Amino acid sequence: MTSKHPSNLEPWQDPKAQPYVSIKNLTKTFGGKVAVNDVSLSIYKGELFSLLGRSGCGKTTLLRMLAGFETPTSGRIYIDGADMTDTPAYKRPVSMVFQSYALFPHMTVEQNVAFGLIQEGLPKNEIRDRVDAYLELVQMSGYERRKPDQLSGGEMQRVALARSLVKQPKLVLLDEPLAALDKKLRERTQLELVNIQEKIGVTFIMVSHDQEEAMTMSSRIGLMNEGRILQVGGPTEIYEYPNSKYVANFIGSVNLFDGMIVEEKSDHVVVKSTAMEKNLCVSHSASLPVGAQISVAIRPEKVVLTDAKPKDEYNWTSGIVKEIVYLGDVSIYHVKLPSGATVLATAANLTRAAERPIQWEDEVFLRWKPENGIVLAI
Ligand code: ATP
Repeated sequence: MTSKHPSNLEPWQDPKAQPYVSIKNLTKTFGGKVAVNDVSLSIYKGELFSLLGRSGCGKTTLLRMLAGFETPTSGRIYIDGADMTDTPAYKRPVSMVFQSYALFPHMTVEQNVAFGLIQEGLPKNEIRDRVDAYLELVQMSGYERRKPDQLSGGEMQRVALARSLVKQPKLVLLDEPLAALDKKLRERTQLELVNIQEKIGVTFIMVSHDQEEAMTMSSRIGLMNEGRILQVGGPTEIYEYPNSKYVANFIGSVNLFDGMIVEEKSDHVVVKSTAMEKNLCVSHSASLPVGAQISVAIRPEKVVLTDAKPKDEYNWTSGIVKEIVYLGDVSIYHVKLPSGATVLATAANLTRAAERPIQWEDEVFLRWKPENGIVLAI
């Protein structure tokens, strides 16, 4: 999983860079229930920033406040340095693409895309040129005369995008823009959307509950739970260095060992967990004192499955294979430890199934390197 944005284009690493969208202590309550809770975020020009979280976490409410469709209970919103908190939706340099596309059913593709420009009162020839250019950008040239009911879901999505972009907004807000598409089309459209966004350099903020989609498309992700932002980071950072058990569990699958720090050195900690016979050793850990109750996270693809007993002092265990989930390119082994805990290990299927040495009910050994563990606060 790699970010589409090379490191020399990462303004959030540059202390001198000014955020394009600045959200300061934003809160929204509905009848006493907090939907968005004291959120502060800086989003930079040209980013494709995803708000990710499960249903009800507040991501749509946050997006709607940026659009101006919802009034914050407290906090401020700045876009390009200007305070937009009290600016009505139609005066913000923002355009929103809805999950349902919201195309006008009685209008043709061309009329749908031209609609906003006609309302702005632009000259006819400019409208025609811009509509042509943006339909070409979303690869919908030739569909001008069709009505929405003559288009597929993916085509409607592209027209909705053209209708947003044609107004040349500074900021495009996308509410689960690909949710209505089937898996194959969604994957293709994800890449198309990233290409279009990079081509015109506009800033996108997208809401998603699909972690794979957010990982594929985003420059950075803000992971939300119960109205709060738990972590902001690039896809790799969030995956490799989650800052909590919640984030580690939400993004991909993870093995978690609750335990206590029994040794604390400058470059590693040793953790005792009741789930493991051997202690765990984690390098590059945040300094936490001996006696601290923590959890060690290890991704299944970092666990090595072997039939030879390791000689290491730390980070290995025996176990019995209880399940093998075949996914084509990889298999996931569910291994039961003597403690009763189950550890997942992912292994690439380098040979055909019948030739693989490890089968159900086999005794195996699992091991991993100290640099592959992450210490998380409980
Ligand atoms: P989903 O992925 O299901 O759309 P979400 O993360 O976008 O969820 P929101 O739509 O922002 O979540 O809702 C956050 C919380 O605020 C939910 O508990 C929801 O019921 C509540 N909520 C949202 N809009 C309103 C409203 N207009 N009136 C009352 N409660 C609301």
